[in-house]
Amino acid sequence: MLQVSIVVPCFNESDVLGSFHGALLAALGPTGRTFEICYVDDGSTDGTRRLLGALADTDPRVRYTSFSRNFGKEAAMLAGLRMSRGDAVVLMDADLQHPPELVPRMLELRRHGYDQVVAQRDRAGEGAVRTALSRVYYRLVRRCMEVDVVDGAGDFRLLSRRAVESVLSLPESNRFSKGIFSWIGFDTASFTYRNVRRAAGTSKWGGRTLLNYGIDGLLSFNSRPLRLAIHTGLWLFLSALGYALWIIGNVALNGVDAPGYATLLTAVVALSGVQLATLGVVGEYVGRIYHEAKHRPHYVVRETERSRAVVRSRVAAQDQGAR
Ligand code: UDP
Ligand code: MG
Repeated sequence: MLQVSIVVPCFNESDVLGSFHGALLAALGPTGRTFEICYVDDGSTDGTRRLLGALADTDPRVRYTSFSRNFGKEAAMLAGLRMSRGDAVVLMDADLQHPPELVPRMLELRRHGYDQVVAQRDRAGEGAVRTALSRVYYRLVRRCMEVDVVDGAGDFRLLSRRAVESVLSLPESNRFSKGIFSWIGFDTASFTYRNVRRAAGTSKWGGRTLLNYGIDGLLSFNSRPLRLAIHTGLWLFLSALGYALWIIGNVALNGVDAPGYATLLTAVVALSGVQLATLGVVGEYVGRIYHEAKHRPHYVVRETERSRAVVRSRVAAQDQGAR
């Protein structure tokens, strides 16, 4: 059986793909394991697909799936995991931010029986604001979520075959893999490596996508925000009750006096704010149910190394026929 599959989602990575592939081969060669590399082209527009085709033509260990458009990294990772046949599967980025030199170390840890091996990056060389924001986010997430999500533990990880099968057994269409990896459990080993800058090209994560990703993560893995809404409602009701009692007491002692305009206005505005926010939370969940209920596939495939080979042999046959 094939020992190792490397799954690499790529979106417009033609600048680094060549050097990444070289570095990966150099790292895998000495391990002496049999391996395949499963690239997933996430609807790139810069010739990444052509490059992958060329790589697959020259090396049978290279396989790829190419999407019909950009479906996002989660979909690309899913496609890669589905493609993979190896006994251990390593997920990594194409931009060399996940150093291929670390793969042998992950394989070694797998040999010690771990089902998941996580390479955790530190935040060296990252903007102070971004680091601080992520810290806050992770603290919040850990408090709210049923699963444990670790700062810096991203998608650079090794999964055993049975861990991969468990990941694939989760059918949800809104996939938040950080949560999924933690949800499936199994023995997990992790080690830290120094954060590296992107080798070339640009990051596809702007502030906004990151924020949305954050919200997705929070909502897709638990129903605690709904619970929070109930709690807020209860506390507000109780404090309103207290305030009402206080007013009644005041009237009984001192008689009626008319102020309270500001209090009234504040209470009305604050309450409508809380109501709108709660409605928003409920709406988010309803939207998610709608989304899941459609049961759409996660991605649409345009081409794979097999379909490419079929087309090529057909063209060759036609050429011979013409001659
Ligand atoms: N990626 C992808 N689809 C997307 C965005 C990114 O497959 O829609 C891939 C990208 O090619 C890279 C990895 O996901 O291999 C990580 O992306 P990026 O380097 O932009 O993210 P960052 O490292 O900045 O978090
Ligand atoms: Mg990157």
